[in-house]
Amino acid sequence: MTQQSVVVSDPNSGINMAITVAVTTSSIFTTAAQKLPAPHGGYISISRKKLLKNLDINGLGGARINAWVESMRASSPTHVKSNSIPDDHGSWIVHRPSALDMFQQIIDASKGKQIVMFLDYDGTLSPIVDDPDRAFMSDAMRKTVRKVARCFPTAIVSGRCREKVYNFVRLAELYYAGSHGMDIKVPKPTRRSSKYHKANDNHAVLFQPASEFLPVIDEVYQQLVEKTKSTPGAIVENNRFCVSVHFRCVDEKKWSELAHQVRSVLKEYPKLRLSQGRKVLEIRPTIKWDKGNALEFLLESLGFANCTDVFPVYIGDDRTDEDAFKKLRDRGQGFGILVSKFPKDTSASYSLQEPDEVMDFLQRLVDWKRLSLRAHSRV
Ligand SMILES: [Mg+2]
Repeated sequence: MTQQSVVVSDPNSGINMAITVAVTTSSIFTTAAQKLPAPHGGYISISRKKLLKNLDINGLGGARINAWVESMRASSPTHVKSNSIPDDHGSWIVHRPSALDMFQQIIDASKGKQIVMFLDYDGTLSPIVDDPDRAFMSDAMRKTVRKVARCFPTAIVSGRCREKVYNFVRLAELYYAGSHGMDIKVPKPTRRSSKYHKANDNHAVLFQPASEFLPVIDEVYQQLVEKTKSTPGAIVENNRFCVSVHFRCVDEKKWSELAHQVRSVLKEYPKLRLSQGRKVLEIRPTIKWDKGNALEFLLESLGFANCTDVFPVYIGDDRTDEDAFKKLRDRGQGFGILVSKFPKDTSASYSLQEPDEVMDFLQRLVDWKRLSLRAHSRV
């Protein structure tokens, strides 16, 4: 069977994602990752609706729910092979090489440019754990991220509520974008001019493009809590501008029941849409705003709009991070790093297997920056 990688786009949601056509309609995971195109070319575009129509919230019952459950499995690959590196890891890694192995090439590409770091939280800085309220990052990771932030402008971009992810990270010097970028706080004006700060403005800027959805998100959160309480292990999290239904601790036999429950709530809310991550269903407003837009907003607010001397690096582990990876490709600046032990079709250019490797990579960036500053001061 011929496999063809494509970029699919949904004009309503603004979501773009790379998939391989030969896989099932609801899966973005490749079966022949060695045929992936080179990071910067070879894609064609088709309508996402044609491929993912079975994930519509409304419509017929059984078949649609089966598609949901199939997609839930596809987005949660660890249940297939628990934490082991898959057999085809070797071939996949050729096309998405380790950012650690390619460190020197990455540094060479950033020469003369300002590196700006964007970091997802769950699964990137912290391990994925059963209880989402206990997804703590290690002290060693916190120290490393603090050092990174001293060397480069650094932002956390998470699906979590902004206050919650701040409480996990606890580093005031970072920029934070919560709720998949729908809640951004830029603490103060940067040394560069920014269209979001007026002259002599020394206040933090809040950007919340989905604020009109707050009442409906609260309402849906309450309904989802009520509706899913009969499903053991289901955890509903209010992320302020979006809601997460975690099914990490739900028996796979109950996934269909959970999908029914979620759909029965969402079908009453046509202005909300569903996306999926690692053992989580994400409910969010239909506005055209995602982590990619958040990345662009943060670059602009940092004063790097229309700059050619910026080198953004985005590290993330999930489907929602693909919007940011793709944004970097479209801009032709910097690159994405996917955190995954499993082969996935991705717009990232490099890979790291787990948060420990992310920490190693960040530490190497810090070491390189310090060395280059020392060498520069000697000249
Ligand atoms: Mg994540």
